[in-house]
Amino acid sequence: MSDLEQAQHYLKTYYRDTLHTNVARKPLVADIETDICVIGGGLAGLSTALGLVEKGKNTTLIEANRIGWGASGRNGGFVAKGYAAGYSQLVKKVGLEHTKQLHKLATHGRSLIKKRIDQYDIDCGPVVQGVLGVSWNNHPQSVKDYIKFMRNDLNAPLEFWSTEKIRDLCKTERYYDGFYSPEDYQFHPLNYIHGLANAIESYKGQIFESTKAIKITDRSDGGYIVHTPQGQIKCNQVVLCCSIYVDDLNKKLKYASFPVYTYVMVTKPIDKERLDAAINTDYAIFDNRYAQDYYRRLPDNRILWGGRVSVTGVPENLAQIMTRDLLKVYPQLKGHVEPEYAWGGELCYAPHKMPQIGQLKPGYWYNTCFGGHGLVPTSVGGDVVSSAIAEGDERYKLFEPFSKLWFAGGPFSPYIAQSVYYLWRARDVLISMNR
Ligand SMILES: Cc1cc2nc3c(=O)[nH]c(=O)nc-3n(C[C@H](O)[C@H](O)[C@H](O)COP(=O)(O)OP(=O)(O)OC[C@H]3O[C@@H](n4cnc5c(N)ncnc54)[C@H](O)[C@@H]3O)c2cc1C
Repeated sequence: MSDLEQAQHYLKTYYRDTLHTNVARKPLVADIETDICVIGGGLAGLSTALGLVEKGKNTTLIEANRIGWGASGRNGGFVAKGYAAGYSQLVKKVGLEHTKQLHKLATHGRSLIKKRIDQYDIDCGPVVQGVLGVSWNNHPQSVKDYIKFMRNDLNAPLEFWSTEKIRDLCKTERYYDGFYSPEDYQFHPLNYIHGLANAIESYKGQIFESTKAIKITDRSDGGYIVHTPQGQIKCNQVVLCCSIYVDDLNKKLKYASFPVYTYVMVTKPIDKERLDAAINTDYAIFDNRYAQDYYRRLPDNRILWGGRVSVTGVPENLAQIMTRDLLKVYPQLKGHVEPEYAWGGELCYAPHKMPQIGQLKPGYWYNTCFGGHGLVPTSVGGDVVSSAIAEGDERYKLFEPFSKLWFAGGPFSPYIAQSVYYLWRARDVLISMNR
């Protein structure tokens, strides 16, 4: 396959094979002018571009591969409020009042996704309401304390569910009590992405796929030129939403983050009665370990099983590894689950695990580093950056405590990340032993 053909293809995933339409957009092959150039067609870039065109801004988005080619089109589909850093860490770092403001943004970001699904009639269902957080250890008080904090301080309507209630739906002795989050939901991320792209184009925003930004230079009359292999884009402002693929386009951003892989496996359809005897709910489920399992039933009685993190890429026997993880939780499915898809995706992390949102210089924006918890935060990032550009809105400054681009280890960052992961796993093992 040539580089161009490669760029025009999605990885084999369940989402790719259940896309409603899969028509590639053309690459840029001319010099053009636009007010704002958004680089990167993941959820961060698309949400930013849609926010801009909705506010009447002339916007062009370029994507090196296909829209949603990266993490955005490969994830678990959990649209759950919050940030990868977790609220208790945020309170420690920026205090309760600031955390409340960030949480308010997340609440808005999650509603904005729903609003856009309705407004643009995006067929990314089933959109199933409700997410369950289940405990791997038997410490109900810590779950209750967490719920109390979320309800009292952040106004999040979480419900405590007893071990009995959890096990009624998740038929496994691995789990104890947990919480139910009624406002979170799940959807088909790649169909959502295509819906966002159609919405951008409905406002005459332009999208070019297979178009990689290779360099950004300053214009002598102000603004920037984005160089791509077959054309240049003259623009007044630029927004980098390149996640972990930013590479040498901007070395400051490149060195301020590190990559982490995580994985998903999707089974073939399973006999419904057998499946009901294991996972008897359509809620999306995740456990409370650092290296957690996250999973959900799909409409045709498959299981989408996500989990694990590493820095070493995608193992050849990924499908077997993930199936083994699933059977550890639901041994009753042994002999009845067969993997059909297994894939990995790269996450972009900053050491503080919060998004990096800000300006490197006037009109040179970045909106990146959403980690493993990105569906709602990319909606937030797109909203605050597009509002800042179009309306001078200053909400993006709530991310200032995290927007300093500290060196994150450079070429050694994957090894640092792997060591941290091993520590987390060790902690999970200790938790299991003390159950
Ligand atoms: C397996 C997996 C499961 C996950 N599950 C969940 C989940 O259930 N819920 C949740 O909230 N989050 C989840 N996440 C995290 C979430 O998907 C990400 O945080 C989010 O999608 C990041 O979006 P993004 O737009 O920043 O990055 P990406 O989606 O990676 O997009 C970046 C895009 O920029 C393009 N690009 C980069 N450089 C250039 C360039 N120079 N020129 C042009 N284009 C360029 C890339 O090709 C890419 O398409 C998961 C992630 C993975 C991998």
